[in-house]
Amino acid sequence: MTRCKILRRWILFCITLLLLAMPAGCASAPGNPSAVTLTPEQIQSDGNLVLVNAAHLWPENYEPESLISLIEERPQGLVGLRDGSLTAQPEAFQALVSMLEAAKEAGYTGYIVLSAYRSYEQQAQLYQEEQQDWLSGLFSSVSQTAAPGASEHHTGLAFDLGVMEGDQLISGFGDTPQGQWVNAHCADFGFIQRYAEDKQDITGIIDEPWHYRYVGIEAAQAMTASGECLEEYLNMVD
Ligand SMILES: [Zn+2]
Repeated sequence: MTRCKILRRWILFCITLLLLAMPAGCASAPGNPSAVTLTPEQIQSDGNLVLVNAAHLWPENYEPESLISLIEERPQGLVGLRDGSLTAQPEAFQALVSMLEAAKEAGYTGYIVLSAYRSYEQQAQLYQEEQQDWLSGLFSSVSQTAAPGASEHHTGLAFDLGVMEGDQLISGFGDTPQGQWVNAHCADFGFIQRYAEDKQDITGIIDEPWHYRYVGIEAAQAMTASGECLEEYLNMVD
């Protein structure tokens, strides 16, 4: 074993000890020990405006009832999919299809859906992978991956978008012409760019120019006009 590996293991051991010594709330509910878990009834009544974040958690054993397969429902040739298992809520995906059809008409193509609905277990795995990178856990005050339950991908109303050029994924979606078109027109199709740089202190999530959330046209246009993020629009800033 190299010295580097020994040192790394020793540091991980110390971090584990530190976590064990912390109050249960800190270790089990990263970000917000006083978080509440949504009930299925509340999720259903909130509909497209359901708020899921570090303070309002998605319940562990609940998934949206009407998820559809994107590969089965997408119009031929309109949008790529990172893999064939992606699912989402039908109203949100139909809105995405309408938006990307309008983009195509305006001359913008090459879009790919990188992520859509995520189960609690899938989010837990992503989160665990991030936590294993102990540097990000120790030195980043803003997590790059929401904790399980805190991701709005659980709603089936959110999409991470990218742009493909041939078989290459272009980095920096927000800087591409396709990304800028979506950013300028998304509200007309019921979407908001959910995590903006200037709202980071409210959302607790870094700027994510690729992450779009369906909220319905009326709410999306109102938020775009007022410059509010979802927490502000719902008057639920913690
Ligand atoms: Zn996302």
